[in-house]
Amino acid sequence: MPASRRGKTASSCLITGERGAVVKEWGGRYPVALGYPNVYQVGMGNLGFLSMYAILNAHPQIVAERFFLPDGGQKKPPVLTLESGRPLSAVRLILFSISFERDYLHVLEILKYSGLALLADDRQPADPLVMVGGVATFINPLPLSFFADAFLLGEGERQVPQVMELLLAGQQMKKSELLLSLSGVPGVYLPNSARKKSVEDCAPVKIPHCSDLDRFVPTSVVTTAGFASPLSASYLVEINRGCPRGCRFCAAGFVYRPFRNRSLPSLQPIFEAAMENGYRHFGLIGSALGDYPHLKELCSWLVRKGVAFSPASLRVDCLDAELLELLRAGGVKTLTVAPEAGSFRLRKLIHKQLNEEQILTASRLAVMTGIYQLKLYFLMGLPSETVEDLDDIFYLVSKIRKIMLDHRQSKQKSIQLTVSINPFIPKPHTPMQWAAFAGLKSLQEKQQYMQKLLRPLGNVKLEMENPWDAAWQAMLSRGNRDMGRLLLAMVERPQSPRRLIREAIKNSASLFAAQPLDIPLPWSFMQHHTSAETLLHMYQQLGPCS
Ligand code: SF4
Repeated sequence: MPASRRGKTASSCLITGERGAVVKEWGGRYPVALGYPNVYQVGMGNLGFLSMYAILNAHPQIVAERFFLPDGGQKKPPVLTLESGRPLSAVRLILFSISFERDYLHVLEILKYSGLALLADDRQPADPLVMVGGVATFINPLPLSFFADAFLLGEGERQVPQVMELLLAGQQMKKSELLLSLSGVPGVYLPNSARKKSVEDCAPVKIPHCSDLDRFVPTSVVTTAGFASPLSASYLVEINRGCPRGCRFCAAGFVYRPFRNRSLPSLQPIFEAAMENGYRHFGLIGSALGDYPHLKELCSWLVRKGVAFSPASLRVDCLDAELLELLRAGGVKTLTVAPEAGSFRLRKLIHKQLNEEQILTASRLAVMTGIYQLKLYFLMGLPSETVEDLDDIFYLVSKIRKIMLDHRQSKQKSIQLTVSINPFIPKPHTPMQWAAFAGLKSLQEKQQYMQKLLRPLGNVKLEMENPWDAAWQAMLSRGNRDMGRLLLAMVERPQSPRRLIREAIKNSASLFAAQPLDIPLPWSFMQHHTSAETLLHMYQQLGPCS
């Protein structure tokens, strides 16, 4: 079968299993291809991406169609839009929504499979504009600087409609003039003009945030039957955004500041409409759901409605018997909590202010309520981490395991403890952006150590991220514009991307080391809610890190 037909067949198979897809006639409308640079199953569980789809298609003059990274093994089919099966070269604007840095490479691959020039400077006036947004870019967009015509940095609810109005009005303008006309929109960053400047000379870009969450509620506007990710099997609703806690390593906690909550009256009609459409399972989305002031009220309302729901991760200090009972009644079988470190010393250092008693109490209450599966997240490779800190992960897991075994309602009930230990990645715009990445050798040794400790424990499943993958993520997180050269080489020599990554990782000691405090970081032109001075002050307060 020819490649183009193979691509069309795959697209039509996907869309026939969907609910909520928008199929518009193109005639006279401004066509946008909205892409998630990973496979369909991953993209369809992403609320940011789905929100953009809703926002764009709400405009009568715009037709927005989705595309994803083709999932064709070595033989990649061409990238076509899902709704009408057109190639990306047929639209006026290609807009990527990116949540994870590791998908940066996929942006280049998609452009390549679409027959478009990778470098923005090489694209012709008739080619579509290429714009990039999503949380990964408002953490650090720089590795994609050579490839994007514009970045849309920040929360897009108000910004994207403003950009679209300018694009609609400027259809007869030259590309360079059109891009310049966007520069007044908050959060728009034009990498072409910035490329010629040093970090110090880049004009500051203030990152916009949505001030009134009640005006727009991100939900699963398109759902898929039985094919996509576990997340997209539920109807997702964003409850709140940001987090008031300020753990020093957490990018979500800083780039989504200030912490904002939706009112219950704005959420209930959304749930009710979805229930009327037959949805019976809801995913409650928010980085700080436990801090949502109406959480119990919302959960008990959902229980009374007879639907199931599952929350994103919850802080143990927000869990009490009443909330756990509501979660159980809502069908929650697994509780996800993130102590992040085994020792109180390290938890205190990163401002994850939880004591052991709180963690153990929450575990006991959960199992007494009838929730027998717990997922625990830990970080490895935090600055100043010692073998004793790793031992403390083992002791904490052992104590939780014993509590779960001792307090289950009957000996016949089996328990499952999943322990996920992931390398610490220093993230831009957090106080720990200056801290060192632990490095491959150290992480490999620590992983072996943890495997020896935890593998013998029954009922405990251990998950650990490959240190090479973590190192690659660390490079992309703190990379500057030059990282684009490596991405380009990887796409141009696709036979050896792993070898290129491994070579680059070996040559990136300075990127992994603690960063000097007196030199502006490459992304310092971006102004988030927390100033660079405040971040530095927080970092210096950490003591052993700095
Ligand atoms: S780790 Fe969790 S509690 Fe801490 S700032 Fe991030 S979202 Fe908030």
